[in-house]
Amino acid sequence: MKNQKTRQIQIGTLSIGGRQPVMLQSMAATKTTDIAATVETCNRLAAAGAGLVRVAVDTVKDAETLVTIRKQCQANLSVDLQENYRLAELIAPHVDKIRYNPGHLHHAEPDIPWQKKVERLVEIALTHDCALRIGVNGGSLDPQSDDAVDSALTHAAFMDSLGFERFCVSIKASDPATVVSANRRFAAQRPDVPLHLGVTEAGMPPEGILKSRAALEPLLADGIGATIRVSLTVPNERKQEEIEAGRTILQNVATGQILSHWQPGGVNIVSCPSCARVENDRFVALAERVREATRSLGGDKTLTIAVMGCRVNGPGETDHADFGLWCGPNAVNLKRGTTVLGAFSYDDVIERLLRAISEAKTSS
Ligand code: SF4
Repeated sequence: MKNQKTRQIQIGTLSIGGRQPVMLQSMAATKTTDIAATVETCNRLAAAGAGLVRVAVDTVKDAETLVTIRKQCQANLSVDLQENYRLAELIAPHVDKIRYNPGHLHHAEPDIPWQKKVERLVEIALTHDCALRIGVNGGSLDPQSDDAVDSALTHAAFMDSLGFERFCVSIKASDPATVVSANRRFAAQRPDVPLHLGVTEAGMPPEGILKSRAALEPLLADGIGATIRVSLTVPNERKQEEIEAGRTILQNVATGQILSHWQPGGVNIVSCPSCARVENDRFVALAERVREATRSLGGDKTLTIAVMGCRVNGPGETDHADFGLWCGPNAVNLKRGTTVLGAFSYDDVIERLLRAISEAKTSS
């Protein structure tokens, strides 16, 4: 693995970038208000080798639980702001890093320019000794920029204009080749900025691990990447598999066993790793049932089926798939492309999906 040439930034008790080893990270998939379960997951992930563990915070109540989680956790903690950047003030005193998504900054208080919101986040980070991550995601791009790399570069330049250096960048997509090309483009223009690498919605093992290998190993072999997360659709009790997969990737790079290409088979299941926002605990089992039921389908052209855990990202991040399912509390929403086909019970939705695939084949 080549030496990183980026600047080094502090995140809690550890640093990334510079000549630091690549940090492994993961995320709790518990309800954040279930403090005991969240603390248990964070500590289990830290014991497995996670340098940083992310928890989801959507509400003031979630943010308030961080006081106790912080006291009981051995892990360095990070929070993803999602739509509500205003929660940053409540979150920052209790975590080591905050991630914001440029595509989500426009949701709350849309009349306030994004620059003002980022200025506020930087002030909060400085006050509370936090790092920031600019987390660009191909499935939720900034409406003012349809290019993920440009969006990341714009926000990184804005951080420079504020004199704030303690930030890293991630540019994720569900397609490994897109992750490789986007991060190479960014690193060529901003070799000073540490990159957090990952494939979003990589799916279940073993496919999710193969997709992550095909994206992360070539980049790491080129010295690109200061921290990695392998996102896997697995139950919370198995989240340490993300760390184990990340460690295998680092070992592969160290020994030159680079997987540089991943080709989906007849069916490509794109599914999220789940988090506190999952609407129904049957989500992971649903993703597995979709995989089993569609295993023999697909033809010359790969059939992409997206399975998402919640209403936050489900509606938008299923748009690019041939078929999309996203979980509600009692029903699963089914789409063909961007067309909503309806909401079906967890028991009935597989049959309805198979019928929709069959109808699509007949009509094409
Ligand atoms: Fe969490 Fe929803 Fe993203 Fe899945 S799609 S990881 S449940 S926010």
